[in-house]
Amino acid sequence: MTRRTLGLSEELREYVLEVSVREPEVLRRLREETAGREGAAMQIAPEQGQFLRLLVKAVGAARTLEIGVFTGYSAAVTALALPPGGRVVACEIDEGYAAIAREWWRRAGVDGKIDLRIGPALDTLDALLDSGGSASFDFAFVDAAKEEYLGYWERCLRLLRPGGLIAVDNVLWDGRVADPENREASTEAIRAFNARVADDERVDLSLVPIGDGVTLARVRESAVGQAGRPR
Ligand code: CA
Repeated sequence: MTRRTLGLSEELREYVLEVSVREPEVLRRLREETAGREGAAMQIAPEQGQFLRLLVKAVGAARTLEIGVFTGYSAAVTALALPPGGRVVACEIDEGYAAIAREWWRRAGVDGKIDLRIGPALDTLDALLDSGGSASFDFAFVDAAKEEYLGYWERCLRLLRPGGLIAVDNVLWDGRVADPENREASTEAIRAFNARVADDERVDLSLVPIGDGVTLARVRESAVGQAGRPR
């Protein structure tokens, strides 16, 4: 969730798109094709894609992590924002989605910049750490299994360099996090994640209510060596 920013009127959201969104044609087509699929709500909004692109450029990222690919929109956005020679390591558990994403990356001309790893993201992240990947990434977009968010978080803190940026999607969960009646496992997991990161001294952070809510966290210098073993 969600394909549009929460809480904006239709009119205001149209206005935001009109005056600010510069979406490449191939990404618009990707988004439109994905809208007809099962799981379409997993697609990020175009205004959010553009925000990610700005972040990737703002931190001067060359190596990024994409945790949860779906049909490939955000990885394509990221890859397009990277300099020549830049690399996205993309984690996806579902081979069907991965195949669709690969085809769109080819159409967008970014397939050569994306290193797709199929399997549970926690395993891929652990393998990166085991192969000396600590502090080797500049940016991470976290958008896979909500129940694993804290696990992704701990690994990202070790895989990103100091000053690197982590963007975590769906932290408002379509408003369910603020509904005390909602006890779904995914809602509880996101609540637990939000509560845990709120006072995590290893990062500076801001919860930005774009799309379905994105928590942005900048890894502090002091985080290096402080991150515990992944949980
Ligand atoms: Ca998402």
